[in-house]
Amino acid sequence: MNEAGWPQWLDGPWSRLCGAIDRLPHALLFTGPPGVGKRLLADELAARLLCAAARHLDRACGACEPCRLRLSGNHPDLFALVPESARDDDEGGDRKAKPSTQIVIDDLRAVQAALAITAHQGGRRVVVVDPADAMNPFTANALLKLLEEPPRDAHLILVSASPRRLLPTLVSRCQQVVVANPEPAQASAWLARQGVADADQLLALLAGSPLSVARLVANGAADALARFAGDVAGIGSDSDAIELAGRWEAWHRGRDGQQAGIDMALLSDWLLRWCWDLVASKSGLPNRYFPAQAGLMASLVAPLPLPQLLDCYNEIGQARRSAQHPLNLRLALEDMLLSYQRAISSRNRP
Ligand SMILES: [Zn+2]
Repeated sequence: MNEAGWPQWLDGPWSRLCGAIDRLPHALLFTGPPGVGKRLLADELAARLLCAAARHLDRACGACEPCRLRLSGNHPDLFALVPESARDDDEGGDRKAKPSTQIVIDDLRAVQAALAITAHQGGRRVVVVDPADAMNPFTANALLKLLEEPPRDAHLILVSASPRRLLPTLVSRCQQVVVANPEPAQASAWLARQGVADADQLLALLAGSPLSVARLVANGAADALARFAGDVAGIGSDSDAIELAGRWEAWHRGRDGQQAGIDMALLSDWLLRWCWDLVASKSGLPNRYFPAQAGLMASLVAPLPLPQLLDCYNEIGQARRSAQHPLNLRLALEDMLLSYQRAISSRNRP
Protein backbone atom coordinates (compact mmCIF):
# COMPACT_ATOMS: atom_id res chain seq x y z
CA MET A 1 0.00 0.00 0.00
CA ASN A 2 1.74 3.18 -1.20
CA GLU A 3 1.14 6.63 0.30
CA ALA A 4 -1.20 7.75 -2.50
CA GLY A 5 -3.36 4.68 -2.00
CA TRP A 6 -3.57 4.96 1.78
CA PRO A 7 -6.95 6.34 2.89
CA GLN A 8 -6.33 9.24 5.31
CA TRP A 9 -9.44 8.44 7.32
CA LEU A 10 -7.62 5.31 8.54
CA ASP A 11 -4.89 7.47 10.14
CA GLY A 12 -6.83 7.87 13.39
CA PRO A 13 -7.42 4.16 14.06
CA TRP A 14 -3.91 3.40 12.74
CA SER A 15 -2.15 5.65 15.24
CA ARG A 16 -4.29 4.40 18.12
CA LEU A 17 -3.45 0.79 17.20
CA CYS A 18 0.26 1.34 16.56
CA GLY A 19 0.61 3.57 19.60
CA ALA A 20 -0.27 0.49 21.64
CA ILE A 21 1.31 -2.13 19.39
CA ASP A 22 3.09 -3.92 22.23
CA ARG A 23 -0.02 -3.98 24.40
CA LEU A 24 -2.61 -4.97 21.79
CA PRO A 25 -5.18 -7.48 23.06
CA HIS A 26 -5.30 -10.94 21.50
CA ALA A 27 -8.56 -10.19 19.74
CA LEU A 28 -9.55 -7.08 17.82
CA LEU A 29 -12.83 -6.49 16.00
CA PHE A 30 -12.83 -3.94 13.18
CA THR A 31 -16.33 -2.68 12.42
CA GLY A 32 -17.74 -0.02 10.11
CA PRO A 33 -19.71 0.26 6.88
CA PRO A 34 -18.81 -1.91 3.87
CA GLY A 35 -16.05 -0.48 1.70
CA VAL A 36 -14.61 1.88 4.32
CA GLY A 37 -11.25 0.07 4.52
CA LYS A 38 -11.59 -2.29 7.50
CA ARG A 39 -9.86 -5.16 5.73
CA LEU A 40 -7.13 -2.89 4.45
CA LEU A 41 -6.53 -1.69 8.01
CA ALA A 42 -6.51 -5.31 9.22
CA ASP A 43 -3.99 -6.36 6.56
CA GLU A 44 -1.76 -3.36 7.24
CA LEU A 45 -1.85 -4.03 10.98
CA ALA A 46 -1.07 -7.72 10.40
CA ALA A 47 1.89 -6.65 8.25
CA ARG A 48 3.04 -4.16 10.91
CA LEU A 49 2.80 -6.81 13.65
CA LEU A 50 4.98 -9.19 11.64
CA CYS A 51 7.49 -6.65 10.28
CA ALA A 52 10.93 -6.77 11.90
CA ALA A 53 11.93 -3.20 11.11
CA ALA A 54 8.91 -0.88 11.57
CA ARG A 55 8.86 1.34 14.66
CA HIS A 56 6.20 3.56 16.26
CA LEU A 57 3.56 4.61 13.71
CA ASP A 58 5.48 3.26 10.69
CA ARG A 59 3.73 0.90 8.36
CA ALA A 60 5.44 -2.40 7.53
CA CYS A 61 8.78 -1.77 5.79
CA GLY A 62 8.22 -4.19 2.91
CA ALA A 63 11.92 -5.08 2.80
CA CYS A 64 12.77 -7.16 5.87
CA GLU A 65 12.67 -10.97 5.82
CA PRO A 66 9.15 -11.29 7.34
CA CYS A 67 7.83 -8.60 4.98
CA ARG A 68 9.35 -10.37 1.97
CA LEU A 69 7.76 -13.65 3.06
CA ARG A 70 4.41 -11.93 3.54
CA LEU A 71 4.54 -10.13 0.19
CA SER A 72 5.25 -13.40 -1.58
CA GLY A 73 2.24 -14.92 0.17
CA ASN A 74 4.40 -17.38 2.10
CA HIS A 75 4.58 -16.03 5.65
CA PRO A 76 4.08 -19.13 7.82
CA ASP A 77 2.65 -17.11 10.74
CA LEU A 78 0.04 -15.13 8.83
CA PHE A 79 -3.39 -16.66 8.30
CA ALA A 80 -6.56 -15.44 6.60
CA LEU A 81 -9.84 -17.07 7.48
CA VAL A 82 -12.24 -16.20 4.68
CA PRO A 83 -15.15 -18.01 3.01
CA GLU A 84 -14.14 -20.32 0.18
CA SER A 85 -16.19 -18.15 -2.18
CA ALA A 86 -13.97 -15.14 -1.43
CA ARG A 87 -10.68 -16.83 -2.25
CA ASP A 88 -8.76 -15.96 -5.39
CA ASP A 89 -7.13 -19.34 -5.85
CA ASP A 90 -8.53 -22.03 -8.09
CA GLU A 91 -7.02 -24.98 -6.29
CA GLY A 92 -10.29 -26.91 -6.59
CA GLY A 93 -9.71 -27.48 -10.30
CA ASP A 94 -12.98 -28.60 -11.85
CA ARG A 95 -14.70 -28.62 -8.50
CA LYS A 96 -18.37 -29.54 -8.77
CA ALA A 97 -19.74 -28.07 -5.53
CA LYS A 98 -20.54 -24.38 -5.21
CA PRO A 99 -17.90 -22.65 -3.06
CA SER A 100 -19.12 -22.07 0.48
CA THR A 101 -20.02 -18.53 1.50
CA GLN A 102 -19.38 -19.46 5.14
CA ILE A 103 -16.16 -19.71 7.09
CA VAL A 104 -16.15 -23.40 7.90
CA ILE A 105 -14.78 -25.11 10.98
CA ASP A 106 -12.19 -27.19 9.11
CA ASP A 107 -10.39 -24.01 8.08
CA LEU A 108 -10.36 -22.74 11.66
CA ARG A 109 -9.09 -26.12 12.89
CA ALA A 110 -6.19 -25.94 10.44
CA VAL A 111 -5.24 -22.49 11.74
CA GLN A 112 -5.62 -23.69 15.32
CA ALA A 113 -3.25 -26.59 14.65
CA ALA A 114 -0.71 -24.18 13.17
CA LEU A 115 -1.02 -21.84 16.16
CA ALA A 116 -0.41 -24.73 18.55
CA ILE A 117 3.21 -24.91 17.40
CA THR A 118 5.77 -22.17 17.94
CA ALA A 119 5.92 -19.26 15.52
CA HIS A 120 8.21 -20.06 12.61
CA GLN A 121 9.68 -16.60 12.60
CA GLY A 122 10.00 -16.63 16.38
CA GLY A 123 7.64 -13.70 16.76
CA ARG A 124 3.97 -12.93 16.51
CA ARG A 125 1.29 -14.87 14.67
CA VAL A 126 -1.68 -13.08 13.08
CA VAL A 127 -5.05 -14.38 11.95
CA VAL A 128 -7.40 -12.15 9.96
CA VAL A 129 -11.05 -13.30 9.94
CA ASP A 130 -13.05 -11.60 7.19
CA PRO A 131 -15.99 -11.25 7.29
CA ALA A 132 -16.28 -12.57 10.82
CA ASP A 133 -20.06 -12.76 10.46
CA ALA A 134 -19.58 -15.40 7.74
CA MET A 135 -18.48 -17.88 10.43
CA ASN A 136 -21.15 -20.51 10.85
CA PRO A 137 -22.21 -21.34 14.45
CA PHE A 138 -19.70 -24.23 14.73
CA THR A 139 -16.80 -22.04 13.64
CA ALA A 140 -17.91 -19.15 15.85
CA ASN A 141 -18.11 -21.40 18.90
CA ALA A 142 -14.71 -22.91 18.21
CA LEU A 143 -13.22 -19.43 17.81
CA LEU A 144 -14.79 -18.40 21.10
CA LYS A 145 -13.06 -21.35 22.77
CA LEU A 146 -9.78 -20.34 21.15
CA LEU A 147 -10.16 -16.82 22.55
CA GLU A 148 -10.74 -18.18 26.03
CA GLU A 149 -7.20 -19.54 26.00
CA PRO A 150 -5.44 -17.60 23.27
CA PRO A 151 -2.14 -19.02 21.99
CA ARG A 152 0.93 -17.02 22.97
CA ASP A 153 1.87 -14.09 20.72
CA ALA A 154 -1.19 -14.68 18.54
CA HIS A 155 -3.37 -11.82 17.35
CA LEU A 156 -6.81 -12.36 15.90
CA ILE A 157 -8.26 -9.52 13.84
CA LEU A 158 -11.96 -9.94 13.12
CA VAL A 159 -13.52 -7.79 10.41
CA SER A 160 -17.26 -7.22 10.16
CA ALA A 161 -19.69 -4.70 8.70
CA SER A 162 -22.48 -6.44 10.63
CA PRO A 163 -21.19 -7.07 14.17
CA ARG A 164 -24.77 -7.60 15.38
CA ARG A 165 -24.68 -10.94 13.57
CA LEU A 166 -21.79 -12.11 15.77
CA LEU A 167 -22.14 -14.02 19.01
CA PRO A 168 -22.35 -11.39 21.78
CA THR A 169 -19.90 -13.46 23.83
CA LEU A 170 -17.44 -13.29 20.95
CA VAL A 171 -17.83 -9.53 20.59
CA SER A 172 -17.30 -9.03 24.31
CA ARG A 173 -13.93 -10.80 24.08
CA CYS A 174 -12.67 -8.44 21.38
CA GLN A 175 -11.51 -4.86 21.56
CA GLN A 176 -13.67 -3.07 19.03
CA VAL A 177 -12.21 -0.57 16.57
CA VAL A 178 -14.85 1.43 14.70
CA VAL A 179 -13.88 2.72 11.25
CA ALA A 180 -16.24 5.46 10.07
CA ASN A 181 -16.91 6.65 6.52
CA PRO A 182 -14.97 9.79 5.60
CA GLU A 183 -16.60 13.12 4.73
CA PRO A 184 -17.75 13.12 1.07
CA ALA A 185 -15.08 15.68 0.11
CA GLN A 186 -12.30 13.53 1.61
CA ALA A 187 -13.71 10.43 -0.11
CA SER A 188 -13.89 12.21 -3.49
CA ALA A 189 -10.35 13.55 -3.09
CA TRP A 190 -9.00 10.07 -2.31
CA LEU A 191 -10.90 8.58 -5.27
CA ALA A 192 -9.50 11.29 -7.55
CA ARG A 193 -5.99 10.26 -6.45
CA GLN A 194 -6.90 6.69 -7.43
CA GLY A 195 -7.86 7.96 -10.88
CA VAL A 196 -11.64 7.84 -10.28
CA ALA A 197 -13.10 11.17 -11.35
CA ASP A 198 -16.73 12.23 -10.95
CA ALA A 199 -17.31 9.65 -8.26
CA ASP A 200 -20.16 11.54 -6.61
CA GLN A 201 -22.94 9.44 -8.12
CA LEU A 202 -21.26 6.17 -7.21
CA LEU A 203 -20.45 7.46 -3.73
CA ALA A 204 -24.11 8.35 -3.25
CA LEU A 205 -25.19 4.98 -4.56
CA LEU A 206 -22.71 3.12 -2.36
CA ALA A 207 -23.59 5.11 0.75
CA GLY A 208 -20.28 6.93 0.87
CA SER A 209 -17.98 3.88 0.90
CA PRO A 210 -14.91 4.92 -1.15
CA LEU A 211 -13.21 1.52 -1.38
CA SER A 212 -16.42 -0.01 -2.73
CA VAL A 213 -16.52 2.70 -5.37
CA ALA A 214 -12.87 2.11 -6.31
CA ARG A 215 -13.45 -1.64 -6.56
CA LEU A 216 -16.61 -1.22 -8.63
CA VAL A 217 -14.86 1.12 -11.01
CA ALA A 218 -11.88 -1.22 -11.34
CA ASN A 219 -14.27 -4.06 -12.13
CA GLY A 220 -16.66 -2.34 -14.51
CA ALA A 221 -18.90 -0.17 -12.33
CA ALA A 222 -20.56 1.37 -15.33
CA ASP A 223 -21.51 -2.13 -16.43
CA ALA A 224 -22.91 -3.03 -13.02
CA LEU A 225 -24.98 0.13 -12.81
CA ALA A 226 -26.21 -0.16 -16.37
CA ARG A 227 -27.07 -3.81 -15.83
CA PHE A 228 -28.97 -3.05 -12.64
CA ALA A 229 -30.89 -0.18 -14.25
CA GLY A 230 -31.67 -2.24 -17.35
CA ASP A 231 -32.87 -5.19 -15.27
CA VAL A 232 -35.18 -3.08 -13.12
CA ALA A 233 -36.51 -1.14 -16.07
CA GLY A 234 -37.27 -4.45 -17.81
CA ILE A 235 -39.59 -5.78 -15.10
CA GLY A 236 -43.01 -6.31 -16.64
CA SER A 237 -44.62 -9.17 -14.73
CA ASP A 238 -44.49 -11.08 -11.42
CA SER A 239 -42.51 -13.87 -13.03
CA ASP A 240 -39.95 -11.31 -14.23
CA ALA A 241 -39.50 -10.13 -10.64
CA ILE A 242 -38.91 -13.63 -9.27
CA GLU A 243 -36.66 -14.59 -12.14
CA LEU A 244 -34.66 -11.38 -11.70
CA ALA A 245 -34.06 -12.10 -7.99
CA GLY A 246 -32.62 -15.46 -9.07
CA ARG A 247 -30.42 -13.89 -11.73
CA TRP A 248 -29.09 -11.33 -9.27
CA GLU A 249 -28.27 -14.08 -6.80
CA ALA A 250 -26.27 -15.87 -9.49
CA TRP A 251 -24.61 -12.54 -10.34
CA HIS A 252 -23.40 -11.86 -6.82
CA ARG A 253 -22.20 -15.45 -6.40
CA GLY A 254 -20.36 -15.36 -9.71
CA ARG A 255 -16.75 -14.34 -10.03
CA ASP A 256 -17.43 -10.97 -11.66
CA GLY A 257 -20.00 -10.14 -8.99
CA GLN A 258 -17.65 -11.13 -6.17
CA GLN A 259 -14.83 -9.06 -7.60
CA ALA A 260 -17.01 -6.02 -8.04
CA GLY A 261 -18.40 -6.40 -4.51
CA ILE A 262 -21.96 -7.03 -5.72
CA ASP A 263 -24.10 -8.68 -3.07
CA MET A 264 -27.79 -9.02 -2.31
CA ALA A 265 -27.68 -6.31 0.35
CA LEU A 266 -26.10 -3.89 -2.10
CA LEU A 267 -28.66 -4.70 -4.81
CA SER A 268 -31.49 -4.27 -2.27
CA ASP A 269 -30.09 -0.87 -1.32
CA TRP A 270 -29.84 0.14 -4.96
CA LEU A 271 -33.47 -0.90 -5.53
CA LEU A 272 -34.58 1.20 -2.57
CA ARG A 273 -32.62 4.17 -3.91
CA TRP A 274 -34.05 3.58 -7.37
CA CYS A 275 -37.55 3.91 -5.87
CA TRP A 276 -36.48 7.02 -3.98
CA ASP A 277 -35.48 8.56 -7.30
CA LEU A 278 -38.85 7.57 -8.84
CA VAL A 279 -40.57 9.50 -6.05
CA ALA A 280 -38.20 12.43 -6.62
CA SER A 281 -38.83 12.32 -10.34
CA LYS A 282 -42.61 12.34 -9.84
CA SER A 283 -42.23 15.27 -7.44
CA GLY A 284 -40.27 17.27 -10.00
CA LEU A 285 -36.98 16.96 -8.06
CA PRO A 286 -33.64 15.93 -9.56
CA ASN A 287 -32.58 12.31 -9.24
CA ARG A 288 -30.24 11.85 -6.33
CA TYR A 289 -28.78 8.42 -7.05
CA PHE A 290 -29.42 7.70 -10.72
CA PRO A 291 -29.05 10.97 -12.59
CA ALA A 292 -28.14 9.14 -15.80
CA GLN A 293 -31.55 7.42 -15.78
CA ALA A 294 -33.60 10.60 -15.28
CA GLY A 295 -35.28 10.38 -18.67
CA LEU A 296 -36.22 6.74 -18.27
CA MET A 297 -37.60 7.36 -14.79
CA ALA A 298 -39.69 10.31 -15.92
CA SER A 299 -41.41 8.12 -18.48
CA LEU A 300 -41.87 5.28 -15.96
CA VAL A 301 -43.60 7.50 -13.39
CA ALA A 302 -45.63 9.64 -15.81
CA PRO A 303 -48.80 7.48 -15.63
CA LEU A 304 -48.48 6.76 -11.88
CA PRO A 305 -49.94 8.74 -8.97
CA LEU A 306 -47.43 9.96 -6.36
CA PRO A 307 -49.11 8.27 -3.34
CA GLN A 308 -48.70 4.92 -5.06
CA LEU A 309 -44.99 5.52 -5.58
CA LEU A 310 -44.61 6.57 -1.95
CA ASP A 311 -46.40 3.38 -0.84
CA CYS A 312 -44.05 1.37 -3.02
CA TYR A 313 -40.99 3.11 -1.54
CA ASN A 314 -42.22 2.48 2.02
CA GLU A 315 -43.07 -1.16 1.33
CA ILE A 316 -39.67 -1.80 -0.17
CA GLY A 317 -37.95 0.02 2.69
CA GLN A 318 -39.78 -2.18 5.19
CA ALA A 319 -38.79 -5.38 3.37
CA ARG A 320 -35.18 -4.14 3.25
CA ARG A 321 -35.10 -3.47 7.00
CA SER A 322 -36.59 -6.87 7.81
CA ALA A 323 -33.85 -8.61 5.82
CA GLN A 324 -30.80 -8.29 8.03
CA HIS A 325 -29.62 -11.86 7.61
CA PRO A 326 -28.01 -13.01 4.36
CA LEU A 327 -30.15 -16.14 4.35
CA ASN A 328 -33.40 -14.23 3.96
CA LEU A 329 -32.05 -11.56 1.64
CA ARG A 330 -33.02 -13.48 -1.49
CA LEU A 331 -36.62 -13.81 -0.29
CA ALA A 332 -36.72 -10.18 0.80
CA LEU A 333 -35.37 -9.11 -2.56
CA GLU A 334 -38.13 -11.10 -4.27
CA ASP A 335 -40.69 -9.28 -2.09
CA MET A 336 -39.12 -5.96 -2.93
CA LEU A 337 -39.12 -6.66 -6.65
CA LEU A 338 -42.74 -7.88 -6.50
CA SER A 339 -43.80 -4.69 -4.71
CA TYR A 340 -42.00 -2.70 -7.33
CA GLN A 341 -43.59 -4.69 -10.14
CA ARG A 342 -47.08 -4.19 -8.69
CA ALA A 343 -46.59 -0.43 -8.35
CA ILE A 344 -45.15 -0.04 -11.84
CA SER A 345 -47.72 -2.22 -13.62
CA SER A 346 -50.73 -0.66 -11.89
CA ARG A 347 -50.65 2.01 -14.57
CA ASN A 348 -52.11 -0.66 -16.85
CA ARG A 349 -55.03 -1.34 -14.53
CA PRO A 350 -58.42 -0.02 -15.61
ZN1 LIG B 1 9.37 -5.28 7.37
